[in-house]
Amino acid sequence: MLARGASLLASSLSSPVASLRMASSSLLINEPKYGFLRELGLTEKNQGVFDGAWKASGPVSQSVNPANNRPIAEIVNGTVADYERAISAAKAAQSMWADVPAPRRGEIVRQIGDKLRSQLKNLGHLVSLEMGKIAPEGVGEVQEYVDICDFATGLSRTYNGQIIQSERPGHMLLENWNPLGVVGVISAFNFPCAVYGWNNALALITGNALLWKPAPSTPLTAIAVTRLIEDVLKANDIPTGLCSLVCGDADVGQALSKDKRVNLVSFTGSTEVGRIVGQQVQARFGKVLLELGGNNAIIVADDADLDMVVPATVFAAVGTAGQRCTTTRRLIVHESKYEEVLERIKRAYAQFESRIGDPLEANTIIGPLHSMEGVLKYKATIAEALVAGGKVEYGGKVLDNADGGNYVLPTIITGLKHDADVILRETFAPILYVLKFSTLDEAIAINNEVAQGLSSSLFTQRIDNVFKWMGPKGSDCGIVNVNIPTSGAEIGGAFGGEKETGGGRESGSDSWKQYVRRSTCTINFSKQLPLAQGIKFE
Ligand code: NAD
Repeated sequence: MLARGASLLASSLSSPVASLRMASSSLLINEPKYGFLRELGLTEKNQGVFDGAWKASGPVSQSVNPANNRPIAEIVNGTVADYERAISAAKAAQSMWADVPAPRRGEIVRQIGDKLRSQLKNLGHLVSLEMGKIAPEGVGEVQEYVDICDFATGLSRTYNGQIIQSERPGHMLLENWNPLGVVGVISAFNFPCAVYGWNNALALITGNALLWKPAPSTPLTAIAVTRLIEDVLKANDIPTGLCSLVCGDADVGQALSKDKRVNLVSFTGSTEVGRIVGQQVQARFGKVLLELGGNNAIIVADDADLDMVVPATVFAAVGTAGQRCTTTRRLIVHESKYEEVLERIKRAYAQFESRIGDPLEANTIIGPLHSMEGVLKYKATIAEALVAGGKVEYGGKVLDNADGGNYVLPTIITGLKHDADVILRETFAPILYVLKFSTLDEAIAINNEVAQGLSSSLFTQRIDNVFKWMGPKGSDCGIVNVNIPTSGAEIGGAFGGEKETGGGRESGSDSWKQYVRRSTCTINFSKQLPLAQGIKFE
């Protein structure tokens, strides 16, 4: 699918925003093929700050298409001064929004969902173009936002506090859930739409305002989403600063993390940055929700159905070119099935080689890595694995291509110890380590020995294995699947995970509780004060 030719790594590498500031004469937005960008309200140069008005005063960057490293359009980024305007606007809007009854807030979220539906394909294709995931995944990501809007709309009529019995006569305890205030969302490049969507829908129905700082390499998706929300808010006479946006780099993220006016910081990104953000928010006693790195495993038991294992592994290990937080990075196979599984997975990988290419083309199954920095990390990780005694069973190569895109071959590595440093680390690329085990307890120990605790899956037919796996001595991850891969969580379930994944829950049946504070009110409807009995006043 890819035309082979010019070397991929010809261009130099630098930091996220800096790498976007490449000189360029022609922007993709001007090509008819990308007409959907203008339908989303994007232009050649886009203001990257929204506080009720679109106005930014920071450096101009270019968002780049990972399939050819050509600029899509330009963005005027935000500064810390722009951030100040945006947080003030969000705070002011929240004061009004908190008084709107929850079901009416739900109605606005329903309209946001409908607005997204009307632009599902365009927005999905923008996600593909800017992030590099294939079009069905781009559209699927927008669909996740639509789904959480539906979920939140229903929830706006049903989320509630309890009435709790009191041990004192004539007393009752009432639990009320109030909004936090402003929710700051700092998001990662690999889910440029859905992560904000999960936060946005739940934070809005519970009465909060939002301030979004997207990844510096996916600003156009954030601008397009915010434009759609702006339309809905305007049509309903709601102050549009309710959903503010500041595109920019770590300085904006830092301003947000340290700002006492931001009641909850919802951070999705690497463990490295999450560790800093988490401590900063904690230092000011703010609330923090961390959705960080994963190092996810599939365990293949001796009784597993291999016709399920093979496609599931391929889907979860090479989908989104290994750039999902829930990507399968370790395949832990029972010794009796090891050779067969390895051979079948290698054969499956080989079938996909001709389908690596432009994510917007219908035949493509594997798109590029998001950045050239990602390609370098892929190369460095494979080199490290080889030095540690690993064997590349498949892949291991950067693909030269005439398009100049960030294409790599999905890679399978064997021969490493399960606790090799390179395996214990998350590398955001399609590299799968295949490991062997003899008892399920051993496999669970291998699953749990990494620092991350995001997603995990066991393929088995045995009921005792299933209950061990999901019980106290089973997987220590937030997602503990059986006979489905590590990717593909559903709204009713929970994302997030334990240990260095941060413990946050952005989307799931009880996630709304992250966006509220509990007020417990004890009401005395008697004429007695039992607590003060015995105290006599003259
Ligand atoms: P990253 O940590 O580099 O960046 C995430 C965000 O943090 C960006 O918006 C970035 O600009 C901002 N940022 C960077 N430095 C900052 C600082 N000092 N203070 C405040 N903000 C700062 O992550 P990334 O490379 O964009 O995303 C990939 C990572 O995200 C992977 O580790 C992946 O596993 C993780 N991720 C986790 C989940 C989940 O649900 N657990 C979902 C998606 C991605």
